[in-house]
Amino acid sequence: MRVNIQLQCTECKRKNYATQKNKKNTTGRVEVKKYCPWDKKHTVHKEAK
Ligand SMILES: [Zn+2]
Repeated sequence: MRVNIQLQCTECKRKNYATQKNKKNTTGRVEVKKYCPWDKKHTVHKEAK
């Protein structure tokens, strides 16, 4: 089952990305390194709830 999630920057707390995850394959919170236009660098983005 695929659900829409938002990825929130852990540094500025802004929600920069929207993506989908598969609940069956992904246990726990999604965590990815992505470019944050506000911090102007790559930061860790976590799934926002
Ligand atoms: Zn940021």
